[in-house]
Amino acid sequence: MTNTVPEETAPTPPAAGVEHFDVLVVGAGISGVGGAYHLQEQCPDKSFVVLETQGGFGGTWRTHTYPGIRSDSDLYTFGYRFKPWTSAPIATAEEILTYMGEVIDENDLARHIRYHHTIDRASWSSDENRWTLEVTRTDTGEELRFTGNFLWMCQGYYNHTEPYTPEWPGMDRFHGPIVHPQTWPDDLDYAGKNVVVIGSGATAATLIPAMAPTAGHLTMLQRSPTFFATGRNANELADTLRELQIDETWIHEIVRRKILHDQAQITKMSFEQPEMVRQELWNGLREYLGEDYDVEPHFTPRYRPWRQRIAFVPDGDLFQAIAKGDASVVTDEIETFTETGLALKSGEILDADIIITATGFNLNVLGDIEFGIDGEPLNFSETVTYRGTMFTGIPNMAWVFGYFRASWTLRADMIADFVCRLLHHMDDAGAEVVVPRIGESDADMALLPWVDPENFNPGYIMRSLHLLPKQGDRQPWVHTQDYWSDKDEFPAVDLEDGALVFE
Ligand SMILES: Cc1cc2nc3c(=O)[nH]c(=O)nc-3n(C[C@H](O)[C@H](O)[C@H](O)COP(=O)(O)OP(=O)(O)OC[C@H]3O[C@@H](n4cnc5c(N)ncnc54)[C@H](O)[C@@H]3O)c2cc1C
Repeated sequence: MTNTVPEETAPTPPAAGVEHFDVLVVGAGISGVGGAYHLQEQCPDKSFVVLETQGGFGGTWRTHTYPGIRSDSDLYTFGYRFKPWTSAPIATAEEILTYMGEVIDENDLARHIRYHHTIDRASWSSDENRWTLEVTRTDTGEELRFTGNFLWMCQGYYNHTEPYTPEWPGMDRFHGPIVHPQTWPDDLDYAGKNVVVIGSGATAATLIPAMAPTAGHLTMLQRSPTFFATGRNANELADTLRELQIDETWIHEIVRRKILHDQAQITKMSFEQPEMVRQELWNGLREYLGEDYDVEPHFTPRYRPWRQRIAFVPDGDLFQAIAKGDASVVTDEIETFTETGLALKSGEILDADIIITATGFNLNVLGDIEFGIDGEPLNFSETVTYRGTMFTGIPNMAWVFGYFRASWTLRADMIADFVCRLLHHMDDAGAEVVVPRIGESDADMALLPWVDPENFNPGYIMRSLHLLPKQGDRQPWVHTQDYWSDKDEFPAVDLEDGALVFE
């Protein structure tokens, strides 16, 4: 079963000509819609527009329609700070879209969003101190121009149309469909079919239990194992507070704090006592698989817990499917595709009617937009980040790149506060331009990759690390990926410490 997403009606822009806004927001995913909310609340005098290439809002939650699509974070923290989440913590894409739709309706944000608008080029002019966006309307083919003083990049981090599928030998020989979950065909008939799912990340863990009641047999084929956490899809504290008829706004805040507190403890333990965490995670699996199931061969990752996101499996549904015999796990490598399935390096043959490549995405740097600064093409990888959100030499621009281990939206809210504060500061200082520049005292600092591969190393980041900006070895040039330090540091940032140059 797939979820269907309604088309939004795109507001018709005014007649030909260039439209100007104080702030241009790129993307109407969870970050862009949040950005619009915060702009309206915190900068009511600023005009802004959100430009979105899709026919509706939602980003990730709109473009992914594979069976069972759901969050792997809890919605108390993946939801916005400002709108209480009132249902089970792990949510389907449809529930997330409903929640975002309520945010748009309750705050009258639809009038600011233009759907079917693809931004092709963004150019900064230092003569005019403004950005010009060249935009194609995907529904009419019209070419439009927008100008703006500040560019707020909420375009996410991966290519929505071209997922990552490795090239394996013999793929063209396979007689059945090869499907990537990111481009799931609505009419894929898998009833009673033998399905091999390549990959064992959150997507595979979602797909398999959702397909299990209909498919014949499902095999999760992994090259290397993943950590899984299991638990009820419920939050006891939230349920208790609800029983006590506590206001939902309070419940949201209290439960967020409790979840974040618990996550911090788990992260700390993962670094200090990885073996204990591993045992705990295994115990969770054994509850479903039984004491006799040997968890070691298939569920012992090569990496430390939390070097990659731990996939949460609500109610252990993946393991229930394995325990029932509807699904099984194979840890091996593909030698070649054959006409009827896969030949593995161990010599094992896996028969398949359908092969699903849950192999992740292609990182997308700055929404595939061609960027230019005063006529010169921008090479993003040559920039250094200011706190993981602005970049040296790029004026009046912020990018929302959320957390890997904690919920993305925690950072989207935090960066929104920062951008709004920055905009006020510029007005107060009479500045039209803000640009991060590395001063003399930091000129000799070591430049490091966007994320530390020792600390976090999923494939899609490692494949594209060379395209991403660098970070420095000291603040404000560090991209911490750490909610706990950011939450105190961001609101206290001294905008006049010299790292940001106002003109
Ligand atoms: C299947 C899946 C499950 C996930 N689950 C979680 C989770 O549980 N918790 C978590 O924290 N994170 C999760 N993530 C990561 C997730 O992508 C982010 O948390 C979050 O949804 C990103 O929101 P965003 O608005 O920043 O970007 P996106 O959701 O990617 O939205 C960006 C929007 O910008 C638009 N856009 C991009 N380029 C252009 C352009 N050039 N012109 C116009 N519009 C453009 C896109 O069309 C898109 O609508 C998941 C990711 C995937 C793929």
